[in-house]
Amino acid sequence: MSGGYVGRFLNLDLSNDKIKEERPEERVYRDFLGGTGLGVWHIYNHQMTGVNPLGPENIIGFVTGLLNGTKVPFSGRYTVVGKSPLTKTWGDANSGGFFGPELKQAGYDAIFIKGISKKPVYLWIKDGEPEIRDASHLWGRDTTETLDIIRSEVGDEKVRVVSIGPSGEKLSLISCIINDKGRAAARSGLGAVMGSKKLKAIAVRGTERVPIDDQKRLTDVSERMLKSLRRSPYLPTKVMMTLLKPIIPWILRRGVVGMPEVGYVTESYIKYGTAGGMSPCSEMGDAPCKNWAGVGFRDFPMRTKSYKISDDYVVKYNKRKYACAACPIGCGAIVKIEGGPYALEEGHKPEYETLAAFGSMTLNDNVESIIKANDICNRYGIDTISAGATIAFAMECYENNILTKDDTDGIELTWGNTEAIVRTLEKLAEHDGFGELLADGVKVAAERIGKGADEYAMHVHGQEIPMHDPRLNPSFATAYVTDPTPARHTKGGAGTLELGLSSNPFKDVKLPRVKRFQYKGKGKVHATLSKLHITLDSLGMCQFLSYFGSFPIIDAIEAVTGWDFSTEELMKTGERIQALRQLFNVREGIKPSDFKLPDRIKGIPPLPAGPSAGITIDLDSMVEEFYKAMDWSLEDGKPSEERLKSLGLAEMSI
Ligand code: SF4
Repeated sequence: MSGGYVGRFLNLDLSNDKIKEERPEERVYRDFLGGTGLGVWHIYNHQMTGVNPLGPENIIGFVTGLLNGTKVPFSGRYTVVGKSPLTKTWGDANSGGFFGPELKQAGYDAIFIKGISKKPVYLWIKDGEPEIRDASHLWGRDTTETLDIIRSEVGDEKVRVVSIGPSGEKLSLISCIINDKGRAAARSGLGAVMGSKKLKAIAVRGTERVPIDDQKRLTDVSERMLKSLRRSPYLPTKVMMTLLKPIIPWILRRGVVGMPEVGYVTESYIKYGTAGGMSPCSEMGDAPCKNWAGVGFRDFPMRTKSYKISDDYVVKYNKRKYACAACPIGCGAIVKIEGGPYALEEGHKPEYETLAAFGSMTLNDNVESIIKANDICNRYGIDTISAGATIAFAMECYENNILTKDDTDGIELTWGNTEAIVRTLEKLAEHDGFGELLADGVKVAAERIGKGADEYAMHVHGQEIPMHDPRLNPSFATAYVTDPTPARHTKGGAGTLELGLSSNPFKDVKLPRVKRFQYKGKGKVHATLSKLHITLDSLGMCQFLSYFGSFPIIDAIEAVTGWDFSTEELMKTGERIQALRQLFNVREGIKPSDFKLPDRIKGIPPLPAGPSAGITIDLDSMVEEFYKAMDWSLEDGKPSEERLKSLGLAEMSI
């Protein structure tokens, strides 16, 4: 077996507590790398079609990235995989922190779990020794308590844990999986899959080092990667904002966006994480406003509203900063709110997606309430994007008299009502009264409410849409409707290019420049980026590194594994992983036309003001080009036989 891998998976059936080890051939590792790639390889080959996502046959996997546990910078992310109960499609969700590296050091490249336990359990693995433990005393506990209790019971503060909170236990379709108290594998509703299996948590501790093919070369590559990190002589955001205050909103409203100087973005991430982008994104129209019906600079202006939930106004609550494993940036922070209605001893800093979902989407400029909302979601194990989007949906229903105080348990759910937002989230988390109606996201809530509520339910095939507006950056729409996991901003990156940021961290890959509202050629660029980004996930690398420079990632793969790797193999591997994720959906009977973006988000009718005023995006052209570039059928979604053969997937064809 090559370096970078332990060479074994753990397969657990909770219906009979049977544990089996699997040792895939090295060819499988090389063809699928890790993370999403190895996850889809295993599940596609071991799971029947049409299984109930919350039934015993659905397999949930926790898969390390190839580079997890090495010193390669940005290599701390792992992936959770399984059929999504929210969208009934292929599902995956990626998280940072320390769980992935620890799992590999504990002796497994991946854990796959099926079956349903008779009682709540957790899986404990210490240095290659798995044990199923009773978790009855943990059922009902939040994710923070669960981590603390497990650490104290195994007597080791270094144990890393993934767990669900009460939302996953109650099978909420927008529930997620949390590690390190605030890092979330949030999308696809996979927390409910853990809950359906009565699997409260997985705890791991390992002392074995990950094997490395060439330590000396790896040290050299890692140092070169750190040197490639572009830093900036420019001043941090606060000083820039003070100097440029009078003209920044004017610039942003004209769509002159992004931070063209890569080093500036690096500095901003070090200081603020993604919270630095909240106010600019709202002003320019990238952050959706008022459940996608508003205009950022008009309805949530920078000077009076959005600045209050951005950059310095967020990090002033920092108690300390932190980084995921092997990360030189450290975009995360632990925060504290002293006093007031949202007092909090210790929580995690909310990031851009959360700030937008509970901020501009609901017209809420109270940052302490968003920190509180983030903490509720982390503790209960809820996807913050979905929760914020669902509350914004409910607000629009309320404002249009589809919901009344009789429906909302007396909550006055008007735009910007901070107290109502937090109260509604608490009810959603507890499945209490009105909250029960919202607990499975916007699609299900709209079906339960009826009365035309679906007009305000912004989702693709059940998944709430993330906080990047295709009317400003059209390629986000391509990602939302073409990736096998619908409504994802992290799958493909031409939208990020349109936003003015780099989307490609691979030193050896060159991309053409793209113009925002020029559609020709976009689908092809998006196809290239979708292959690159899925390899990043499979390597276990953070996608943010695209913003910080160009890195010798292929050198790092070679140093760790000992393989003779190339850009061509990288692209082909990305395409193979994408093709198999797509085949999973085709096998489930999902067609491309099933993934529909709501008209509002395509600009039908167009927005009346801002950089996207009058814009209706040409999504059909971009999608058509994307499918052509991938050689997938636009009718049934199936990759062509020739392409499958060239990717070594002929025997997996349907
Ligand atoms: S940039 Fe942030 S999310 Fe990415 S690895 Fe570093 S700390 Fe984690």
